[in-house]
Amino acid sequence: MIVVHELAHLKERNHDKAFYQLCQHMEPSYHQLEFDCRVYLLWKNDQDNPKNTDG
Ligand SMILES: [Zn+2]
Repeated sequence: MIVVHELAHLKERNHDKAFYQLCQHMEPSYHQLEFDCRVYLLWKNDQDNPKNTDG
């Protein structure tokens, strides 16, 4: 997923519509992978900061 993202940057400098279309062209499930990655990072952040809870 990261590789696709970096490869897309070789062609598209910004994170605009064309950039994501290029990502999806190389990796059809790019959006799902990116979503999974974000969920993982949120979970990991939560694990690293156990005090950061309600109350
Ligand atoms: Zn980027």
